[in-house]
Amino acid sequence: MTLTHSVSATRPPLVDPFARAITYLRISVTDRCDFRCVYCMAEHMTFLPKRDLLTLEELDRVASAFVERGVRKLRVTGGEPLVRRNIMSLFRSLSRHLGSGAMDELTLTTNGSQLHRFADELADCGVKRVNVSLDTLDADKFRRITRWGELDKVMGGLQAARRAGLQVKINTVALKGVNADEIEDMVRWAHGEGMDITFIETMPMGEIEEDRTDQYLPLSLVRAQLARVFSLTELDYKTGGPARYVASAETGGRIGFITPMTHNFCESCNRVRLTCTGTLYMCLGQDDAADLRAAVRSSESDEPLHAAIDEAIARKPKGHDFVIDRRANRPSVGRHMSVTGG
Ligand code: SAM
Ligand code: SF4
Repeated sequence: MTLTHSVSATRPPLVDPFARAITYLRISVTDRCDFRCVYCMAEHMTFLPKRDLLTLEELDRVASAFVERGVRKLRVTGGEPLVRRNIMSLFRSLSRHLGSGAMDELTLTTNGSQLHRFADELADCGVKRVNVSLDTLDADKFRRITRWGELDKVMGGLQAARRAGLQVKINTVALKGVNADEIEDMVRWAHGEGMDITFIETMPMGEIEEDRTDQYLPLSLVRAQLARVFSLTELDYKTGGPARYVASAETGGRIGFITPMTHNFCESCNRVRLTCTGTLYMCLGQDDAADLRAAVRSSESDEPLHAAIDEAIARKPKGHDFVIDRRANRPSVGRHMSVTGG
């Protein structure tokens, strides 16, 4: 892939109406996945027709426009990013912004199923850290949670990632009655392998087959459970995301907590999310969005794209409004997490 669109040095950095600089873009490169995690997808999903997707060249063009406007960190996600055909050409192409110093970090969130194939090439593209989602260390339970996944393959991927020199962080969704009994073991395992681990609360996004109120496990309980066995100290450590970190003295690693349901982290939000169809969501928890695909396809010039980005950032809301409604049991955001990638 080659860079065909001119880069002007004069466009101003992106700042939203609440004076938050937009420095972080998450890009969902596909809505498809080789797993069907119970909290994320229904077993039978209808995926987008391929023609609706931005091409890899178009994804590069939009991402590069954001880099030009001050985005320093790009996270590639999905669906499962590593199942998109030829995805490495996008990483290769985006890595030029690391080389030029325009960007600080290129990274991805993955379920790990394809990491054994791509770890070396990712490292070669300048990727330094990856987030791997893993909710259990038990192979049968893993199959039940992911429906289609194989734990062995993910473990092989983790090994390949570490051999390639990638720093791995584990993301674990805390699920009542599913992995609540494994929280301590997962911390010991992750820290034993030199990886940080972050727990996430389930968010009410998209229709799934189960009752979300049955899955919801507040992280306040997870933290209290961990505090009984480990000496936890609050850390100032920030990765530019909403996670709050503590250190565990016994295991010598960091534990993060992402608590969208119980803690409002919106005031420091520096991010926006692009879907694989070129829709820009200014907030994970709101439905308002902007269509950047039309802008990209309207002209060879990037002017309409930058105008659409400016217009979108001017509408970034102050915060989200997640509620799991027990009576209605309806998601408060209709789209699945696999659309925006979390
Ligand atoms: N497929 C990749 C993966 O699983 O890492 C990337 C996309 S996945 C949507 C990103 C993260 O969102 C994963 O850590 C997953 O566990 C989390 N996730 C998915 N649905 C969620 C939900 N409803 N609530 C909270 N986290 C969710
Ligand atoms: Fe796929 Fe990730 Fe969603 Fe699981 S959480 S179904 S791996 S997109």
